[in-house]
Amino acid sequence: TTAIVWFRRDLRLADNPALVAAAEAHEKVIPLYIHAPDEEGEWAPGAASRWWLHHSLVALDKGLGRHRGGLQVAIARERAPTGSLEVLRQVVGETGAAAVYFNLLYDPAIRKRDAAVRKALEDDGVDVASFNANLWCDPWEIATKEDEPYRVFTPFWRNLRTRIDEREPLAEPKLHPQALKKSLPIDKLGLLPTLDWDKGFHEWTPGESGAHDMLGLFADDAVGHYSEGRDLPARHGTSRLSPHLHFGEISPPQVAQQLRAHFARRKNAPDLEPYLRQLGWREFGHHLLWHFPDTPKKNFNKKFDAFKWAKRDAHALRRWKQGKTGIPIVDAGMRELWATGWMHNRVRMLVASLLTKNLRQHWLLGEKWFWDTLVDADLANNAMGWQWVAGSGADAAPYFRIFNPVTQSEKFDPDGAYIRRWVPELRDAPGRLVHAPWEDEAFLKKSGYPKPIVDLKATREEALLAYQKSKS
Ligand code: FAD
Repeated sequence: TTAIVWFRRDLRLADNPALVAAAEAHEKVIPLYIHAPDEEGEWAPGAASRWWLHHSLVALDKGLGRHRGGLQVAIARERAPTGSLEVLRQVVGETGAAAVYFNLLYDPAIRKRDAAVRKALEDDGVDVASFNANLWCDPWEIATKEDEPYRVFTPFWRNLRTRIDEREPLAEPKLHPQALKKSLPIDKLGLLPTLDWDKGFHEWTPGESGAHDMLGLFADDAVGHYSEGRDLPARHGTSRLSPHLHFGEISPPQVAQQLRAHFARRKNAPDLEPYLRQLGWREFGHHLLWHFPDTPKKNFNKKFDAFKWAKRDAHALRRWKQGKTGIPIVDAGMRELWATGWMHNRVRMLVASLLTKNLRQHWLLGEKWFWDTLVDADLANNAMGWQWVAGSGADAAPYFRIFNPVTQSEKFDPDGAYIRRWVPELRDAPGRLVHAPWEDEAFLKKSGYPKPIVDLKATREEALLAYQKSKS
């Protein structure tokens, strides 16, 4: 018999439970990708994600070449409620496939679509099997003693931590891929930009082997200093696996197993716990999204609904997006994001704090910009990150802890190497001026760098006042 393996964001051949199960139960598999952005509603992949997706699909196709096959590609009919279902039915009709296998996603629109597709196919007499490929545990598997979802990270992590060592990654199965009569070239999906804003993306290698190379680099170097290095944006102190994890090119169990294997015979093996804990935040984000599907749109903490945002300020928002706020660490981050599709976590917190607290613009505006520009844009992590900084989220930073971007910059980018890399106007700024160039008017004028769009101290006070008012 033949089975369809419906690839989505599980773009790998190893540790892919749907693929393994299909290959075990059927002689032939049809590896199928259906392009259906409409079915993701307002959270269809943004421009940077589409770039990544294109290259990741090309890599998967190449990987299938080792099995003398290739990725079969189709486009779902636009605006059909379940265009993917039509494609799957067509493929079943053409090939007589007896079953459809896929790995789960947890985004609300996709969950709904998948439920409809599953029911319709089962009604047609086609077997449907779904699996968890991208998390250590499905979001509903972890619950408090009272059988409630977690709202606080630390107890969630304590619970999850007891389960993760058990999950062994699966080997790449032997495949006998079957081709369809008609499959589209990946280029036809129109995922690549027409303007060449992606020049700075060349440092990435999307796809399964790119993910493993990235992990190898991290294991060889940064993982040993992760606890200190992870907060320093000038260094490659983090794994940069986020886009690879988002597209399912590598799984958390694979990451954990490979790091452990890498250090198994070394006396001075680094402590992997702080890094595993960070992967735990990713699971927590998915846990929240599953149990509270409104999280990408609505304040998690309903009390925060009373908070009065400032009037929408198109000018300030534009300057923030362009990296021209006049606050160096923020501008460095926003320019890094635009140039590479990624931004360091510490700096994500600082740019988000400036937008939501000093500028008092709604966190949704920042969330949307990140959605379009990040190669790792992820509904669960992005919503959690924005709500955490805004102070409206589950287990969020207390509102009154407003980041001071100057002291943060002095602490985490002490010699200004990160700022100098991304803000060439400040390349030669002497000493402290790289963090606060407005302190020397003559220098600021000569540098061509803008004045700050806000008075950090005054806007901090205003934000605190607005928060006090919202509570009374
Ligand atoms: P590492 O430090 O190497 O961590 C390893 C992995 O753990 C990451 O790849 C990621 O999958 C996960 N992880 C690490 N930190 C977090 C975190 N705080 N929350 C959730 N998962 C985490 N992450 C995304 O993947 N997609 C997003 O769209 C996203 N948007 C964010 C928006 C804001 C405002 C903030 C503050 C954070 C956001 N994050 C997002 C979380 C975090 O910044 C990135 O996951 C991290 O910077 C990715 O770099 P890395 O792979 O080198 O991380």
